[in-house]
Amino acid sequence: MSLKYRIIPVTPFQQNCSLIWCDATGKAAVVDPGGDLDRIRSAIAEEGVTVEKILLTHAHIDHAGGTAELAKALSLPIEGPHRDDNFWIQGLPQQAQMFGFPASEVFTPDHWLEDGDTVTVGEETLEVLHCPGHTPGHVVFFHQASGLALVGDVLFQGSIGRTDFPKGDYNTLVRSIREKLFPLGDAVAFIPGHGPMSTFGQERKSNPFVSDHRG
Ligand SMILES: [Zn+2]
Ligand SMILES: [Zn+2]
Repeated sequence: MSLKYRIIPVTPFQQNCSLIWCDATGKAAVVDPGGDLDRIRSAIAEEGVTVEKILLTHAHIDHAGGTAELAKALSLPIEGPHRDDNFWIQGLPQQAQMFGFPASEVFTPDHWLEDGDTVTVGEETLEVLHCPGHTPGHVVFFHQASGLALVGDVLFQGSIGRTDFPKGDYNTLVRSIREKLFPLGDAVAFIPGHGPMSTFGQERKSNPFVSDHRG
């Protein structure tokens, strides 16, 4: 249970960027640095951790917009998302214009992630689950030892990700949630891309899109 986290809402979309770190080594990863890098860097300084990499769930501007700049500033490798999100990475400058975000640069991840991969943060290991539907290359990070998942825009408390973007697909998203996430266990707590945390068990009971009784 030595993975710690701090949620840092960033961008006008209040995206839940997460600083996660291995308590034993103080080594950390920034998950989804969408923007507001000053706030992310303040959190890093306050926690006194050493960031060793950037992890990305998917390449929408509010999640990936600050990636190139942060990677350059701190000399960090970029891991994720799945390569099916490359068109979103290539489109970051246009996404920035469209949503009125600060200019955002294209980048090339050092490692594309696949279903079944693992990523490390210090001495801690997280499993990678490919969960398409919101975007085709969306991945989720799962830390089994502490029962914590970082799910990006796949699942929210009481809702699910939008599927009206290019290459989004509603049925694929619902399948990702039911067949990949819920089997991880009712007790698993998750940090969504936006809004408050919840558990898979809570969403199975009451989520209007993917609860068990919705069939
Ligand atoms: Zn998104
Ligand atoms: Zn988002």
